[in-house]
Amino acid sequence: MKNEQRYLKNIEKFICSREPENRSGILMKDSAKRLGISRGEYQQIEKPYTFIYQRLPVEIGGEVLNISTGIVLHNRARGPFKGGIRIDADANIWETTELARLMTLKTSLADLELGGGKSGIKVDFHKLYQGLKDKVKVDFYPFMDRLKDHIMREFVDHFIERGLVRTYVPAPDMGSSSAEMMLFYNKTHDPAVVTAKPEGIEGWLPGRREATGFGTAYSTLKYLEQVGKNPSDVTVAVQGFGNVGSYAAHYLHREGCKIVAITDFYGGVHNPAGIDIPELMEYAVEHRTVKGYDDEHTIDNDGLFGLEVDVLIPAASGHVINKDNAGSLGVKLVVVEAANMPVSWDAMGILQQRGVDLLPDNYVNSGGVIASDLEYKQGLGGIRFSRQQVFKHLELKFDTMWAEINERLEIAGSFSQAACDVAMERVFVAMKTRSLI
Ligand code: NAD
Repeated sequence: MKNEQRYLKNIEKFICSREPENRSGILMKDSAKRLGISRGEYQQIEKPYTFIYQRLPVEIGGEVLNISTGIVLHNRARGPFKGGIRIDADANIWETTELARLMTLKTSLADLELGGGKSGIKVDFHKLYQGLKDKVKVDFYPFMDRLKDHIMREFVDHFIERGLVRTYVPAPDMGSSSAEMMLFYNKTHDPAVVTAKPEGIEGWLPGRREATGFGTAYSTLKYLEQVGKNPSDVTVAVQGFGNVGSYAAHYLHREGCKIVAITDFYGGVHNPAGIDIPELMEYAVEHRTVKGYDDEHTIDNDGLFGLEVDVLIPAASGHVINKDNAGSLGVKLVVVEAANMPVSWDAMGILQQRGVDLLPDNYVNSGGVIASDLEYKQGLGGIRFSRQQVFKHLELKFDTMWAEINERLEIAGSFSQAACDVAMERVFVAMKTRSLI
């Protein structure tokens, strides 16, 4: 029997499909060697606990669409499965699995009493709109909002039917927001059912909306301090101007960094003199894109990646920096992973060879789940955290994570590997303590 077949796990045997080799698996395997974790134990940590496929029939414009969704529950050794709901045309079971695994590593690195999970909802709104626009007779955005609402209501019904309340605690990810999270609360009236609830809803947390972008900016500033760079001498490019990218740009701009380029799905803005971020945020809220903000100074993703900047922040989808473009990126100092897995495994090696640092996703974008942990505790305990307490807590958590990563840096060889070592050790100890391994 070939090695790879021997180690194929039961879940993969059962569905007759194997998860492609990916970056989180490689990082964890490498950490396991350093931590003295055996191959068998490593596999128990790496593989998901379970996953659920659900087809959601949703009616719109007189047609029934069958939407594919998957929930991957990866690990709950340290607490309930925790992770966002991604609504995206490219969602699939293995991407959702890797994102769920990343959540296990993220909650553990931040030392939260939570595990890892993720949901993927596969829907291509643009494509569906092309086919249905004559029937629905509304513009694209009202169509997308209505369809998303229908899908999420179905999703919430199935979530409850399957008894996932308080076992898996969702939050927003790409394509979803507080508006969708509220639907979980509407059905259950349980403030601990979900995090990132909208302002004013029982158990909502001030600062949760800004937390991931704030953490991204804070981790970037800590890195700049460590390498002796003054924020006001630093140029930054950001891909993605949604929840994470916009607030990351906002906080870095506030601290004096010059944000020279921003792209989103529809277009981009480039201004070497620096973009007025508060003004762009207002524009993007109104128009739901940065496109059209400054028609004289536009840029696309390739252009943004080619710019000679000190800091590049991918804050949109996964694997956007890969072996095909990593060699030609213009970034000089550091890539800050605000998105989940924006840099592929091959690209990580290329960046390292080029002397460009990489701050890993499970550290950089953990602000969201750190704030979510407070929100969840509020929901369970009836306590209240103020905005100031939330931001202070985020800073303390980031200071601790950064110190722990740096302690392991020399032995591990990179920030990503060091962060994985810290996280994996905690999961391993919890699984041992609970006799799960
Ligand atoms: P969002 O849906 O609010 O925004 C996504 C942004 O990316 C939008 O501006 C969109 O136009 C842009 N985008 C999408 N495809 C693009 C493309 N091909 N090229 C350029 N831009 C593109 O999503 P978000 O919540 O900001 O999440 C962004 C990333 O951060 C995701 O990878 C997500 O997994 C990760 N993340 C989010 C949170 C959170 O709290 N929201 C927490 C941790 C990690």
